Amino acid sequence: MHEYSIACEILDQVLKTAKLHEAKEIKSVTLELGQLAHTNPDQLAFCFDVLAKESLAEGAELKVEMKAPTIECDCGYSGPVKKPSAACAEEKLQSELLEYISALACPKCGKNARIAGGRELLIKTIDIEI
Ligand SMILES: [Zn+2]
Repeated sequence: MHEYSIACEILDQVLKTAKLHEAKEIKSVTLELGQLAHTNPDQLAFCFDVLAKESLAEGAELKVEMKAPTIECDCGYSGPVKKPSAACAEEKLQSELLEYISALACPKCGKNARIAGGRELLIKTIDIEI
């Protein structure tokens, strides 16, 4: 599972940081996750929980902050993609990702724009007890 290997890497980094600060306990970890990162936050939290057992991070809460994608266009526009239209929302089977891909037209000029952000997966903060 994709989320499992990501959780492994996150735990690895978190434990290294905790060791550096001689932490006794890791209370929580906050992640920033782009909506285009193809990662399920619930599965990620579940894997992290399982992997963290019997480590400093056992019982630590994994908080995930979702980040909406942003785009850049030749016309100079840079910012969020436009929200899917009401007609689009009727298609309940459509995944969130597909909605975003279909909404990558520039809201200013209507041309296709480049994805500038939304694929990131970063550790934002680690809350430790020393
Ligand atoms: Zn544009």
